Amino acid sequence: MDLTVISTYRCNSKCQMCYIWKNPTHPKDEVSVETLKKLPGGFDNLNLSGGEPTLRTDLMSLVDVLYPKARIMEISSNGLRPEKLIPIIKKYPDIKIRFSLEGDELTNNAIRGESDGYKKKLEGMRALQEVGGTDLGFALVIQDENIEQLMDVYELTQKMGIELATSTLHNAWQFYKNDNYFYEREVVARKAEPLITAMLRGWKIKNWFRAYLNLGLIEKILGHDRLIPCVAGKGFAFIDPWSDVWGCNVRSDLKMGNLTEQSWEEILESKEANNVYKKVSKCSQNCWMVTTARTAMRSNIIHQFPKMKPIVWVVFNKIKLMLNMDIDFDRYINYKNVKSSPFKQRQSYLDTKEKPVLIKNRKGVDEHYPLKSFINE
Ligand code: SF4
Repeated sequence: MDLTVISTYRCNSKCQMCYIWKNPTHPKDEVSVETLKKLPGGFDNLNLSGGEPTLRTDLMSLVDVLYPKARIMEISSNGLRPEKLIPIIKKYPDIKIRFSLEGDELTNNAIRGESDGYKKKLEGMRALQEVGGTDLGFALVIQDENIEQLMDVYELTQKMGIELATSTLHNAWQFYKNDNYFYEREVVARKAEPLITAMLRGWKIKNWFRAYLNLGLIEKILGHDRLIPCVAGKGFAFIDPWSDVWGCNVRSDLKMGNLTEQSWEEILESKEANNVYKKVSKCSQNCWMVTTARTAMRSNIIHQFPKMKPIVWVVFNKIKLMLNMDIDFDRYINYKNVKSSPFKQRQSYLDTKEKPVLIKNRKGVDEHYPLKSFINE
């Protein structure tokens, strides 16, 4: 099982596609080291996320507790405070670190609302390389505003010898946002194709399956069904800053329990969890986030390996590329069927004076997540 621990909703970026920064948590409300000690071991990918996890003053203690519980421990960061991660990488060089990077300097800083973000992320990533990090990379959220720079960021990661993780716009309670829509779905989808080809042309097996994950992103961008059914609640779960355990980070009706009040085993076997499993089996949303798609792609028998469907796609298209043939994207993707969506202009918060407001004593799901409905189609 994969697990994401959303350690805080405090954030020092001001992203246009994620409003966590407008909804900070009070540090005293945030999931504690003691609570996380209750988790069992044996997770596959355990992602320590946020908000911005480096704002937790007890970050090293969180990592000390979580690291032994997972096959792969990951920290998702905006990269603005790399100095907080250096001691962690010195102690655990194989922790996977992903810094958000949305394109060149102007584009990244506009999308993420970071006055000096681009420079800090690049310098920070080099510093983590110098201290011996072995699984480092950037993470880019594909959207209309940065699609032209997708290949440039990929080439930058190749030059630096690091990874590129991609995701795309979603509506989700985790992001406090339910109006993320593409302006031109087909344009964005078509321009993501070269990344798939480039990843499959190389000789990193990990990238071959990332190519398939990106194929799923194209389906998501166009509003098509998921390539592989969702396994929320059973294959992955989320813990939010109030220690609530969720089947996924999108639907606000999939709470399974609370880790402060219950044991992990009680939560997974609870009536609430069973209701979640039933709802997930009928869920028609077309989410395809890295945290949730990679779990769905994983074999049910040997978790280190992918399912047959991605393996067949990868082998067939890798052979085609080796024979100097192109991937026939139109064979896999129905570009004639592009879902329509409302137009909602995103706004850069780079130069805004808007400051996050801390709402004290938020109690219960309704106050934690006042937006109720999060639709991805
Ligand atoms: S498909 Fe449904 S259950 Fe799965 S992550 Fe999306 S909203 Fe959640």
